[in-house]
Amino acid sequence: MTTMARQRPAEPARATKLRIRRDDTVEVLRGKDRGKRGKVHKAMPREGKVLVSGVNIAKKHVRARPGLRQAGIIQQEMPLHASKVALVCPKCSQATRVGYRVVGEAAGRKKERYCKTCNEAV
Ligand SMILES: [Zn+2]
Repeated sequence: MTTMARQRPAEPARATKLRIRRDDTVEVLRGKDRGKRGKVHKAMPREGKVLVSGVNIAKKHVRARPGLRQAGIIQQEMPLHASKVALVCPKCSQATRVGYRVVGEAAGRKKERYCKTCNEAV
């Protein structure tokens, strides 16, 4: 074992922007938690991953940290790839794809996300 810090996984040269944000509700499409819904704790655009509450739970063996915690096995959510989840639309409550469109004129112009199912802005 070396004492070197664990390296970050290699990042893609061009990080793609996530269409999922923190506090979105998402539905899991693949894997052992398929069908589960949860709230996004953290979006990780660099890794293309999201951390969803109650989803992709792994047991971790942890050492004691005196004064902080005991040694033992804890359950912790692990990040999963953003392509394995779909946004749950707050308007129609369906798992949907996300689109972007530009709204407003000139100075007030901005991009908004919308639900591809019901066409409402989210
Ligand atoms: Zn919708």
